[in-house]
This record gives sequence, structure tokens and C-alpha cells, in this order.
Amino acid sequence: MRKKIVAANWKMNMTQAEASRFVEALLLRDVGEITDVEVVIVPPFTAIAKVTEALGNAQNIKVGAQNMYWEKNGPFTGEISAALLRDLFVHYVVLGHSERRTLFGETDEIVNRKVRVAHEAKLRPIACIGETLEQRDRGNVEKILAMQLRGSLAGLTPKDLQETVVAYEPVWAIGTGRTATPEQAQEAHAFIRKTLREMADDTTGEHVRIQYGGSVKPENARELMSQPDIDGALVGGASLDPRSFAQIVKAARER
Ligand code: PEP
Repeated sequence: MRKKIVAANWKMNMTQAEASRFVEALLLRDVGEITDVEVVIVPPFTAIAKVTEALGNAQNIKVGAQNMYWEKNGPFTGEISAALLRDLFVHYVVLGHSERRTLFGETDEIVNRKVRVAHEAKLRPIACIGETLEQRDRGNVEKILAMQLRGSLAGLTPKDLQETVVAYEPVWAIGTGRTATPEQAQEAHAFIRKTLREMADDTTGEHVRIQYGGSVKPENARELMSQPDIDGALVGGASLDPRSFAQIVKAARER
């Protein structure tokens, strides 16, 4: 049985003070006591330490980062390494988010380098893939997903694959208010799992958790996450409000 994982991707939002207030509000809603769903908060780098501090003993809530560079250290102004994230007690790192791919030119090859380095450093990658509307309209969803998955996760051992979270985020659903229907999302997730089986083996395919992302809200979270191959959510906009995010986490518990 795969444990559901719900992550809050704050993107370029939240000052340190806002981050503290968010965590306090989340804990008041008892999210710190939930053990059957893994909860991850992914702040901007500048608020990571504050989130960890505010979480205190709520160790079931993990902290993630939104990106990292593959080099260990050195003259890479503006970049952050896996070791620097580990130093901040970060567990997860989101890699290949569609905003990184479209706005900052990240390719599957770049994502793959980062994913491998993350594993070497014992950080768990949340690797994002997803098609554009044009690709969907042309009937290329499976082709694009297979290419991104095989490219971004190339060369991983079955163990590393099993410790990777895949986030299926159709680009047309991110920040648009337009969600994939539960059927559309399930179809894509089942295809991703089938591809993972082909890339490694059946056990690995069964183990990997696949999150859905794209305008997840309290109103649609339960139905999406009750699909057999949807193992949680990567939440952008709705994760900026502790009330909405807590509702989404709680929706992941309902079967
Ligand atoms: C995201 O950025 O990963 C995301 C899914 O955003 P939103 O929930 O706002 O669509």
C-alpha cells in the first residue's frame, strides 16, 4: 500500500514571517498529528529554516526545496547544492517543474543530472512531468510522458526509482483553475506506472508514488486522490492558505 503524499509548492511566495504563521495555522488544524499521509512543505529557499523551526516536533511534516543544482560546490553564483539543502534538514526536492522547464530552459537531461545527484545526497526527488495543451490536443500525451519519464529518470536503480516521487502535472492545469478530470488524471497515472514497470520491474512500478498536480483544491482533491493510481497531490495556489491545504491533506485520508 502506497502512503499518500501531499506537498505544498509555495513557489516564489511567503516571507519568513508568513511562513511561520502558515505552519502555526496548519498545526492548529492538527495536520502535525496525521501519520497516514506524508505532508511536505516546499517553501522558497529563504523560508526553509523558518518552516523547520516552526514545525518543531511535528516530524511527520517534511520540508522540501523547489530546485537545486547538480554540482557539489564552487563558482556557481545563485545556485544551491544538495549538500546545502541537507544542511537545512531538507528531505525532498522538486525537480523539473514545468515552470523550470518553460521559463528556465530545463531539459530532461538537466532534470536527470539533478535527480541522480539528489539520490546520491539522500534527498528524495519529486520529479515533475506533464504535457502542454497543444500536445494533448494532438494526441501526444503518452508519447510526451514516456519521453519525459524515461529521460528524467534514466539510469536510476530500482531502489532509487522507488524512492522517487513522480508528479504528473499537465501544464494546461497549472495555475489555470482548469483541473484534469479524475478520469483523465487516472489514465495518465496508469500509463506512467506502466512505463515505470517497463523501465524497472513490477515491484518498482507498484512502489513509486505518483502525485497529481494542477489546480488541486479542497473541492476536487478527494475525487482525484481516490483514483487507484493517484497517490497524492502537488499543490500550488491552494497551498498558500493553511485552511485549504489542511483540507486537501485530510482529503487524502478518505478512501
Ligand atoms: C504547481 O505549481 O505545482 C501547481 C500544481 O500549481 P497550482 O496548484 O496552482 O495549479
